[in-house]
Amino acid sequence: MPLYEYYCSNCQSKFELLVSHKHADDIVCMKCHSEKVRRLLSVFAAPRSDVATADGSDSAPSMGSCGCGGGGCGCH
Ligand SMILES: [Zn+2]
Repeated sequence: MPLYEYYCSNCQSKFELLVSHKHADDIVCMKCHSEKVRRLLSVFAAPRSDVATADGSDSAPSMGSCGCGGGGCGCH
């Protein structure tokens, strides 16, 4: 299962969650249980995600660099 990072706009907190892809958009905040959460890029890709997508998302340095195993994180 991929590890996702979520941001809650209700309590302005970020949290990480292991979740299957089909449930990735059906998440509530771990702290305030708000549904106002949005999924961020995988934490594996987060440090370099801005660089990777700056010149086109199709030119990612290497497949699987985000650690999602391919497609799970939506960055491919
Ligand atoms: Zn919250």
